[in-house]
Amino acid sequence: MLLNIAAIDKINAILPQTQCGQCGYKGCNPYAEAIALGQADINQCPPGGDEGILELAKLLGLNSKPLNPEFGTHKPKHVAVIVEEDCIGCVKCIAACPVDAILGAAKLMHTVIAAECTGCELCVAPCPVDCIVMKPLAIQPSPEQKTAQKLTAKRRFEARNRRKESETLLKAEKAKQQKEALLNRQSNDRASRSSV
Ligand code: SF4
Ligand code: SF4
Ligand code: SF4
Repeated sequence: MLLNIAAIDKINAILPQTQCGQCGYKGCNPYAEAIALGQADINQCPPGGDEGILELAKLLGLNSKPLNPEFGTHKPKHVAVIVEEDCIGCVKCIAACPVDAILGAAKLMHTVIAAECTGCELCVAPCPVDCIVMKPLAIQPSPEQKTAQKLTAKRRFEARNRRKESETLLKAEKAKQQKEALLNRQSNDRASRSSV
């Protein structure tokens, strides 16, 4: 079993980058790490299906095996569609989308950028008015299109994670500054009271 970063990257490159979490991990890269460490089996990714399992088996010198149904079933590519007239603009779907494939703002109608949607379904459950439906693509992507879509989804997922990390850091810094300002004010108040 391969155990280094290059191996994790090679495993991750085979995974579909849907970032759906059906494998039991928070995205494709954590699953790739678990496979490399021997903590997860190669047949836990429903979007990758038998094709993906075969590629993983070849890479790792293992026997291929069927998809483990405990993790779901392989389906043709779907994309999310928002029934726009029912959308209340709550932005919950935007918060749930791992690849920033939804456009909209608070209290305004939202829409999915179909070309960027990985079909992960993570936006469906959070919608309070059930106005997101998953629709199968009329024409399924070719192997070349799948490869291009994987690369785009990986790039968008990583960019979103970087943005969220910097938002968290900014928020923490702002909270720290507010706390310091409050402590300074309290200390100044105490000093002015004791000088009276
Ligand atoms: S696409 Fe596969 S590997 Fe990636 S998160 Fe979904 S189930 Fe896991
Ligand atoms: S729009 Fe929905 S289904 Fe499509 S990638 Fe975003 S969360 Fe997943
Ligand atoms: S979660 Fe549903 S109602 Fe809320 S913005 Fe998204 S589509 Fe509209």
